[in-house]
Amino acid sequence: MDTILRNVRLRGREGLWDIGIAEGRIAATAQGLSEQAASELDAAGNLVLPTYVNGHIHLDKCFLQERMRPNQDYTFGECLELTWEHKVRYTTEDILERAGRAIREGLLNGMTVFRAFADVDSTGKLRGLEGLLALRERWRDTAFIQVVAFPQEGILRDPGTAELLEEAMRLGADVVGGLPWFEWLDEDARAHIDFCFTLAKRYDRDIHMLVDDTDNPLSRSLEYLAVKTLREGYQERVSASHCGALAAYNEVHAHKVMELLKQAGVSISSNPHISLVVQGRYDQEPMRRGITRVKQLWQHGVNVFCSQDDVADPFYPFGRNDQQEVAAYLCHTAHMAAPSEIEAAFDFVTSNAARALRLPDYGLEPGCQANLNVLAASSLREVLRRQQPPRWVLRGGKVLASSQLVQTLVY
Ligand SMILES: [Zn+2]
Repeated sequence: MDTILRNVRLRGREGLWDIGIAEGRIAATAQGLSEQAASELDAAGNLVLPTYVNGHIHLDKCFLQERMRPNQDYTFGECLELTWEHKVRYTTEDILERAGRAIREGLLNGMTVFRAFADVDSTGKLRGLEGLLALRERWRDTAFIQVVAFPQEGILRDPGTAELLEEAMRLGADVVGGLPWFEWLDEDARAHIDFCFTLAKRYDRDIHMLVDDTDNPLSRSLEYLAVKTLREGYQERVSASHCGALAAYNEVHAHKVMELLKQAGVSISSNPHISLVVQGRYDQEPMRRGITRVKQLWQHGVNVFCSQDDVADPFYPFGRNDQQEVAAYLCHTAHMAAPSEIEAAFDFVTSNAARALRLPDYGLEPGCQANLNVLAASSLREVLRRQQPPRWVLRGGKVLASSQLVQTLVY
């Protein structure tokens, strides 16, 4: 063994366990491992989870809050507009600096996987994408970064974007992005989705779209995405973020859509803190929470995950790139605070997100990559209550980060 984690607590198992790591992978899990290792860490009864997976984050926009005009009302249109004057001037160096800070924060918070969205449109052209491809290269040995070519201004309503997306895939983007609900007409939304599938199939890439990110019950691109996924045989390769409109549909229609999503193996990412800020902006009282039907989707067997989405950018002023914080927001906004629901919230930021991204060898089984968080508490509920970063973050069995909170009360 190269490393042994002693006295760890594992979800769903009684007692304390040791995890042995060899050549970057989990070699054995047992109570009282008799072997010795050059490096041994005492988890002191705290929980160990696989590292957090962030399946949706805009690393080209992060920290623009430091230089942009302030938001006035946080409508989607305003958030978009505030980005324009910055993305025409993006440079790779600028993106490497800002996104690098977000990656460091994420690593300290136990997140080693990032699906990063790069705006591709007629305003910023390929500047964001080139920056994030350079970022993927710069951090290759430390973090797993996927780059999504994302048409933030639509495809049909932003002429030239289709060609730019094609070029983005040629340059090496990992995932085809989409924003169908933002098109002017329903038939344009469907054409948008058709185009994304054509592109994804040509380059054999997965698809991740931002879908029906609105309170408007007439926004109905999610059902078309699910049916298209089935017809193209793309099950388990498609993710959709937000899907707020699903919460506004009547029960009968919502259940039809949720059943389609399950059959199509479409994963759904809810980013609840963003929706709390950006949605419900046209409501008087009562004001909606803006999230999709998270609990119903989960109970229906749809693969649900949660993501950071934004860090201090025009769409969201806060964000620590911290999936423990995201899971806590989810528990609040989705009414998921019972023990089994807290368990589910942690699936949303670990195994479910890993399934959406089709990460190989993810988990705590022997043979899995030893990308592990030794948390700063012994139960999931306490992790959410305390909101402390992992005591240790391991990548490939080696300590990548450590944190220790020091507080002193002089009384
Ligand atoms: Zn987003």
